[in-house]
Amino acid sequence: MLGGTADARAVADGLAARGVDVVTSLAGRTRTPLLPAGEVRVGGFGGVPGLLAYLRGERIDKVVNATHPFAERMSRNAYEACAEADVPLLRLDRPGWSGHPDASRWTWVASHTEAAEAARRGDGAVWLTVGRQHAGTYVAPLAGRTVVCRVALAAGLELPDTWRLVEAVGPFSPDDEARLIADHRIGVLVTKDSGGVMTAAKLTAAAESGVAVVMIRRPECPGERCATPDEALAWVTGPGGGC
Ligand code: NAP
Repeated sequence: MLGGTADARAVADGLAARGVDVVTSLAGRTRTPLLPAGEVRVGGFGGVPGLLAYLRGERIDKVVNATHPFAERMSRNAYEACAEADVPLLRLDRPGWSGHPDASRWTWVASHTEAAEAARRGDGAVWLTVGRQHAGTYVAPLAGRTVVCRVALAAGLELPDTWRLVEAVGPFSPDDEARLIADHRIGVLVTKDSGGVMTAAKLTAAAESGVAVVMIRRPECPGERCATPDEALAWVTGPGGGC
């Protein structure tokens, strides 16, 4: 399991309960990660060569990539390493928010650069929930603006004086999100099409508060895919060469 999501934990728990030998790999980005059943390893592999060596060294039979929909590099590495090692790979890609009742009112963009430009054109304070590694893209376009930048881990992130750094991990309630919007007079929310329920409350709060939403589309991910933990469980344990 390439993990770091609630879906990955659900699959690992399900596999362990069925007696399947499962190891979940975490990047090590959060201080106190929620741990799944089975073995857990933490830290990067060292690119495609490192992952390839790991797959071979540990005699991995199958890989489920249940990383976050925006974990683009890990997903690409998994695709390349699994192809090279001839190990079956499944991408567990939970549904995004394109079917959300308010989706047609959002500004959909393809990149952080486009999102920063869309936020710059908006009114009021900007609320960023784009991940710490992308915050820098917004600094120049939003220079002098009031910005609330919410990240899971703030350590080491240096931001302009007019920016407020908020360290918090979901799930968040609509009330929490409405309070943040009111306290900071948010006019624009910039976020990623992550899907899932853990972070959806901000979209409800934004709609109720009249906050404009800039939504970053998901990166493409090649290969076989499924949408739910149950489908991933069936793929691993099923007749098509299951473990
Ligand atoms: P990324 O940009 O695709 O990956 C960067 C590097 O981190 C990878 O090349 C890999 O290093 C290492 N890595 C990522 N996921 C890993 C895993 N599960 N196990 C071992 N190494 C991993 O990924 P990211 O966006 O930084 O996300 C990192 C982790 O946080 C992922 O596991 C993801 O599920 C979780 N997460 C991400 C987001 C998000 O918005 N991106 C949100 C919530 C949770 P090497 O090249 O050295 O192998």
